[in-house]
Amino acid sequence: MTDADAGSAVNAESLDDALSAVESAGLEGYNYAYLDEHTKREVRRGILEAVAIPGHQVPFASRAMPLARGWGTGGIQVSLSLLGPEDTFKVIDQGSDESVNAANIRRLAETTADVGTTTDTTDASVIQTRHRIPEEVMTDEQLLVLQVPQTDPLRRVDGSDDRNRTRHAHKNYGKMWVALYENVVEWDEIQISARYPVMVNDRYLMDPSPIPRWDVPKLDNADTLYLLAAGREARIYAVPPHTDVEPLAFEDRPFQVERFEGACNVCGSEDTFLTELETDDGEHVAVCNDTSFCAKRVTDPDLPKDHHLEAEGVAWGPGTEALDGGDDE
Ligand SMILES: [Zn+2]
Repeated sequence: MTDADAGSAVNAESLDDALSAVESAGLEGYNYAYLDEHTKREVRRGILEAVAIPGHQVPFASRAMPLARGWGTGGIQVSLSLLGPEDTFKVIDQGSDESVNAANIRRLAETTADVGTTTDTTDASVIQTRHRIPEEVMTDEQLLVLQVPQTDPLRRVDGSDDRNRTRHAHKNYGKMWVALYENVVEWDEIQISARYPVMVNDRYLMDPSPIPRWDVPKLDNADTLYLLAAGREARIYAVPPHTDVEPLAFEDRPFQVERFEGACNVCGSEDTFLTELETDDGEHVAVCNDTSFCAKRVTDPDLPKDHHLEAEGVAWGPGTEALDGGDDE
């Protein structure tokens, strides 16, 4: 987290400078949506191929962006290739619309693509996100772009991309199953919290990006098109609407979703992904991770959320400790 914060500040500055230059000069000298038309066409072709072969990693010529690779450049290139003036764009970073990175990516699109922006999930036509899928139910009118740091789930078990490509080609995922089995032998359960490996359309093993297990069931048979993009690794992959997405698990060790004890301290929700927040008084309280959803729940406590708390066949993990303490050091 500390490294990420430091890096984020540096990148925020360089992007900030670039944006100020664009804003003061107007769009003169810059193409619509920052990228040149040839690049956007190439990215769109990559997206089409990714949609046609769900879960398969498609290479694309990742361009230099005004922030370092690894800070959402893949997601930005996909978003900017798709956005048009009639779109409404939302950017979230770990559930928050207001993080420096999210705010700057939103500003880049606003400045160069002339799009409207929003923090409201239901108002957005394109949502770019890092580490979370919004709590609210999304529709087939919406696109979700996930930023991906590492594209290949098999890298957990073998560092060779070469050998892993062969494994994908042959649908040979035995090494991953063995690793999961060893995990169960050692810990009595599958100890993977984020980047949980999933099988897409019963064909390709896919890394869903570092979303929590909580968000993984949202990928299965969804109405929304999910696009996943890695700028550093120059790969795009996709989960088209109504595609089967199944987390790897064993019959006697089912995939488990995080379970939270207690409620959000702001809106009172008991069915959302909670994170711990330290108040000015040093008190630790639990709040919704999805800040814009939390704000909407404050005024509308019955606002529906994505299906999976009611979903059948979801195995709930052991409850995490209630975060409503304040007496911990
Ligand atoms: Zn809340």
